Amino acid sequence: MVDHNERLLLELLKKSGNNVCADCGAEDPDWASYNLGIFICMRCASIHRSMGAHISKVKHLKLDRWEDSQVQRMKEVGNSQAKAKYEYRVPPCYRRPVRNDPQVLIEQWIRAKYEREEFCHPERQSYVSGTMEGFLMKRGKEDSRYQLRKFILNETDDTLKYHVKEHKEPKGILKLSELNVAFAPQKIGHMNSMQLTFLKDGTTRHIYVYHEDPEVINCWYMAIRCAKLHQLQVAFPAASESELLLRLPKDFAREGWLWKTGPRASDAHRRRWFTLDNRKLMYHDEPLDAYPKGEIYLGHESNGYLIKVSNTGNGCKEARFPFHVVTPERTYCLAAMTHEDRAGWLAVIQQTLKRPLTPQDSTSKYLPRGDPGADVLPRRHDARGPRRLARRHTADAQATAHTARLYQ
Ligand SMILES: [Zn+2]
Repeated sequence: MVDHNERLLLELLKKSGNNVCADCGAEDPDWASYNLGIFICMRCASIHRSMGAHISKVKHLKLDRWEDSQVQRMKEVGNSQAKAKYEYRVPPCYRRPVRNDPQVLIEQWIRAKYEREEFCHPERQSYVSGTMEGFLMKRGKEDSRYQLRKFILNETDDTLKYHVKEHKEPKGILKLSELNVAFAPQKIGHMNSMQLTFLKDGTTRHIYVYHEDPEVINCWYMAIRCAKLHQLQVAFPAASESELLLRLPKDFAREGWLWKTGPRASDAHRRRWFTLDNRKLMYHDEPLDAYPKGEIYLGHESNGYLIKVSNTGNGCKEARFPFHVVTPERTYCLAAMTHEDRAGWLAVIQQTLKRPLTPQDSTSKYLPRGDPGADVLPRRHDARGPRRLARRHTADAQATAHTARLYQ
């Protein structure tokens, strides 16, 4: 039988603001923090519980017994009012997590809100300063061991550097304006890890880092985003903030194994690790390779890019769940392991092809500077021979030139 307090709680849950999780926005929350006065989902409830009852006291709306005073507290506060307090000064560059985001992001968001109260006290937001220094574990380029490296972020210099020995020259200098940072915990095998993808002498390079402390990795992630947003604000002063936020680093739209054939009919199907990073569909021998084996640029559908399901044609051999990615230069024959996997790839690639190009989609990242017609780049750091890149459509090349002027 539904008791009086449970009925009151279910009524409160219908109020606008209370009908989604106060922390991640998931619909129909069925837990609550009764000292904070918020309705939350199960995943966020477990994070609240891990902070300790001195921060947050958690109960299930239906399975636990509620005191009158606790229900009263829920009535007095509620999600909207709590948001106004605990999210008062969230900096625009901060990535607010949504449902299904990586655990480290959601957990640190919740701890930042209620444990550290960072958004009530902006002076606690060390990541907005444009500079950061500290140590991260970095995976070796040639071997799989992780070593401690000092990293230094400097927005003014447009660099993220790392040092093997603290007082010696940096081992690597990453250009901040050409850097993407993504959480990829499953692939890296560490909860608090990030993948840094950037251009080095015209070649895409990946670096994998982690830190045992989730707060530290989250802080680095936000610091890179904040520095990039400041740069964009300078480069595009007329653009709205919401427009610029769309250009900040994103996690990969999809990653996984696919089979791929070469350009000739006699080429065998080979298993490759594919990563869709914005408009760049990269493939690798192994998930944690330092360099992609190749990249397929996905332009706009109006420029001759399309995706289709087909079992044959264009030199493709029979494969289990094949599909074709067609670019103006070449048709790529790929195949997924399962029907569901193929459907997932078709959906994200289709969305990419339909999305209008922005100037930043077409930064010079795919081509060496001053050579907009090139479609073969030498791999300076890899002995496996030249890497083919799709030739860009003229419109893309024009956008590149436009962006190069604004954003370099
Ligand atoms: Zn939630």
